[in-house]
Amino acid sequence: MKNMQEEMLKYLEKIIEEEKQVARKGEIPDYIEAVDNNDHGAVTVSLTSIDGTTVRAGDHEGRFSLQSISKLFPLALSLMDYGSEEVFNYTGKAPTGNVYHSLIQMEMQEKEKPLNPMVNSGAIVMCGLMKGDSADEKFERVLALARDLTGNQELTYNENVYQAENQDLNRSLFYYNRHNGYIDGEFEDVMPVYWKMTSIEVTIEELSNMAAVIANHGKCVHSGKEIIPSDIVTTLKAFMVTCGMYDESGSFALEVGIPAKSGVSGSIVAAIPGKLGIGVMGPDLNKYSNSIAGIRMLKKISNKWRLSLFSED
Ligand code: GLN
Repeated sequence: MKNMQEEMLKYLEKIIEEEKQVARKGEIPDYIEAVDNNDHGAVTVSLTSIDGTTVRAGDHEGRFSLQSISKLFPLALSLMDYGSEEVFNYTGKAPTGNVYHSLIQMEMQEKEKPLNPMVNSGAIVMCGLMKGDSADEKFERVLALARDLTGNQELTYNENVYQAENQDLNRSLFYYNRHNGYIDGEFEDVMPVYWKMTSIEVTIEELSNMAAVIANHGKCVHSGKEIIPSDIVTTLKAFMVTCGMYDESGSFALEVGIPAKSGVSGSIVAAIPGKLGIGVMGPDLNKYSNSIAGIRMLKKISNKWRLSLFSED
């Protein structure tokens, strides 16, 4: 075991070194660059195996916001609250073909529900659906889940990022879906939940802890306590494969083959069922709004240890 850990550490240090040699290209969303705390050149990776050991490399001390990785939370909570039959009256299950904040698919057919819970419209609808009498009550539940998943009971959100998230595009998705009957609630009871959850800040190790719980079918890898029921984790993993990387999910499945969810902070959470949780972070994004360095590192890790779900052994 010790040898395996050392081998992993050596390899992670090597790929971080390789990342530092490549010229940075890609973009950081302006509002994130302006308000979060992160070092914008930071590249880091952490692996947490289901036996609870963590190995990490790179600039691992910084905190970054979860952004769309947090979309897993209101989906999990809504499924816990109502079960899947009811929840999928509110969003579809189809893979993403458009940019994450798109309205177009809902316009194509009259009163069409959001494509899936991993695009903004679907996640906003889930924030409306999940139980809780106010935005504060709902967000408390989201934060409690995030704290259990990351193992950090002090976890919180970044107020500056939260303020900067308050933008018209997502407002329009709220009103559009309320107009169509997929949200039954007031703006102030729903949107602060979405904006706050995207602003929750984690370290890379906390991200790999969270990944490890997903890899461990919903149970904490340290205490064995169930955090999310395993049938709900199965649903999360299926959405991570089909929609987690937006319209790059197909090529990501071919090249990496690991259930994953990205966020525009440049972070990606990835979980190999029964084996390993991975967190990667590199702030520059490609045209699909996914982390360039993050995908490159995940490709290498997947190839090195043959971790693709779709490989032969
Ligand atoms: N803050 C982002 C938004 O809703 C989250 C999107 C993302 O990470 N892809 O616009």
